[in-house]
Amino acid sequence: MTSLNAVTSLKGIGKAAAKQLEQLGIVTIHDLVMTFPYRHDDFRLTDLIETPHNERVTVEGRVESEPSVLFLGRNKSRLQVRLLAGNHLVKAVFFNQHYLKDRLSPGMTVTVTGKWDRGRQLINVSNFKEGPKVEQLDFEPVYSLKGVMHQKTFRRYMRLALDESAGQHEESLPQVLRDAYRLAGIDRALEMIHFPSNLQDVKQARRRFVYEELLLFQLKMMGIKKARKEAEHGVAIQYNLELVKNFISSLPFELTGAQKRVVNELCAELKSNTRMNRLLQGDVGSGKTVVAAVVLYAAITAGYQGALMAPTEILAEQHAVSLAEWLEPHGVTVAFLAGSTKPKARKQLLENLVTGEIDLLIGTHALIQPNVIFKNPGLVITDEQHRFGVEQRRVLRDKGLNPDVLFMTATPIPRTLAITAFGEMDVSVLDELPAGRKLIETHWLKEDSLSPVLKKMESELLAGRQAYVICPLIEESDKLDVQNAVDVHGQLSTYFEGRYTVGLMHGRLPADVKDDIMRAFGAGEIDILVSTTVVEVGVNVPNATFMLIYDATRFGLAQLHQLRGRVGRGAEQSYCILLADPKTEEGKERMQTMTETNDGFLLAEKDLELRGAGDFFGKKQSGLPEFKVADLVHDYRALETARKDAEILLESSNFWTDDEYRILKQHLEKSGALNGERID
Ligand code: ADP
Ligand code: MG
Repeated sequence: MTSLNAVTSLKGIGKAAAKQLEQLGIVTIHDLVMTFPYRHDDFRLTDLIETPHNERVTVEGRVESEPSVLFLGRNKSRLQVRLLAGNHLVKAVFFNQHYLKDRLSPGMTVTVTGKWDRGRQLINVSNFKEGPKVEQLDFEPVYSLKGVMHQKTFRRYMRLALDESAGQHEESLPQVLRDAYRLAGIDRALEMIHFPSNLQDVKQARRRFVYEELLLFQLKMMGIKKARKEAEHGVAIQYNLELVKNFISSLPFELTGAQKRVVNELCAELKSNTRMNRLLQGDVGSGKTVVAAVVLYAAITAGYQGALMAPTEILAEQHAVSLAEWLEPHGVTVAFLAGSTKPKARKQLLENLVTGEIDLLIGTHALIQPNVIFKNPGLVITDEQHRFGVEQRRVLRDKGLNPDVLFMTATPIPRTLAITAFGEMDVSVLDELPAGRKLIETHWLKEDSLSPVLKKMESELLAGRQAYVICPLIEESDKLDVQNAVDVHGQLSTYFEGRYTVGLMHGRLPADVKDDIMRAFGAGEIDILVSTTVVEVGVNVPNATFMLIYDATRFGLAQLHQLRGRVGRGAEQSYCILLADPKTEEGKERMQTMTETNDGFLLAEKDLELRGAGDFFGKKQSGLPEFKVADLVHDYRALETARKDAEILLESSNFWTDDEYRILKQHLEKSGALNGERID
């Protein structure tokens, strides 16, 4: 027998039971034993003398009185009996379980668990068993059974499965690794996670399963990376170093240390014949665009074409303006393509693209349409939207093209998440802001303190600056969202009547109207822009120095940071006011943290810590795999270790030859990783 046999091969599990188990996704013995409890109830006997009020206690005692029942109206009852536990006389009270009356008689021994009312020397019983404690485990596993069967039944099956299948479980972790980290073997770990003798056992077992899970995951990620590097020979882009240097020195500023480092990393990869599949993370304002310009230019000096995609037309246009300004003096032909490009211009553009007359194409999603055909694409960069980058990579590959691909994101992602969600990619980090940037002064105020805020806003406007007012995001309904923005717009229009222009922007406006409004704001024709979160990504209006965010608790730290990054882009001091009355400690901590730091990476770590991995990317594009035991917040050390080990294993010849690693290799093969596919 092996643990891969069906559960029915266990004596004691028949067809009917198997059917029930199947509802829980359990078919084999392996499935069964790998269904872990989500908690253990503590039934250790308690010494009542030591135990404080309101603690959960378990005592074994002799029934000392006839049970008495009190009916308290509809379906409610209170049954009470006196118990002698050791030499402690206590009352045991059972609510709504009057039927137990016939099972309790003086002289018998029972074990009860419940909340201890110290003052009244009374136990409010939640769990009752006839007989002494010997029958009862110290720690009882509790499983998620969705009402399919009783815990007790499931525990019996589990006990049976562990007993019958001992020694039959696949050990995926070789001895060397188990020794190195003192991890329990599979049989021992299974026993400890289901039926621990103490809480240390649970910890021990968990440690093993977490490592195992993360190692397998990282082997898969690194396996994909390795497979892609080997299979997809990119082109070695032999750029002209002199020209690139020349371009860099022509820029109106000197690159920061981080920009130089990242440019070097990227150029080295361009030149190698492995294909670039890289994420560039940089905090808001760290200067990713110019880095993109340098590497695109490098590719162009080698005779390739470049592409740069942004999620919105405004952003794409902004990029087109900057890059044309920097690159055209160096003889680069830059073109812009978006949904709004007129058919005639579009036709001409597409022709020039095929013939290679265009060196650099900048635009929106329009760039991944099937009829957009490059002559010789060497490098494709996407800004602020990795998911659509993945899609576009596929499209390019389907066209038989294999350019280097770089994804840029201004959402600093904590390292644990980065190596999980983007585990198969390389990561570069811009962790330095250009010199001379002023920190954005951030204040958190109660929602009823609007009037001083408006005064402050007015003083900025008076100095010729502009302001953003961000309205609450109500996820369930963008109708309400819009309503909020409309209301606030109305109020501010009245307040600033005849003095300042107030614009309104929200997601329900047609794209071209949104663009017009943004342009007007950029040109200074609008003083105050009331908006929902649509301004979040990448918009650059350096003259805006003031931001007011209503109902700021509704946002995560990462998003608040993104929003705040719309100001502080010029030479002047900028301000961000958070209006919020957080109801929870977590909410207060978030607001407080915002006022204390401008560091996006720090905020991202904090966000992850406060809200957990699930919330980090928002619902839509998490990209995070689901782990069974591992938790990305708490197990980050194990994740790092597993990643390092995976890397070492894949590079070592033992891994590919030794039988010890057989099971790990099987998993790796089954996952498709060795074909370079990411399936999850
Ligand atoms: P982000 O990384 O948020 O996309 P941008 O690329 O938009 O940042 O850069 C923000 C601003 O900083 C731009 O106006 C850009 O020209 C400027 N900038 C970029 N690098 C430097 C530098 N090394 N020194 C001074 N200013 C810089
Ligand atoms: Mg940017």
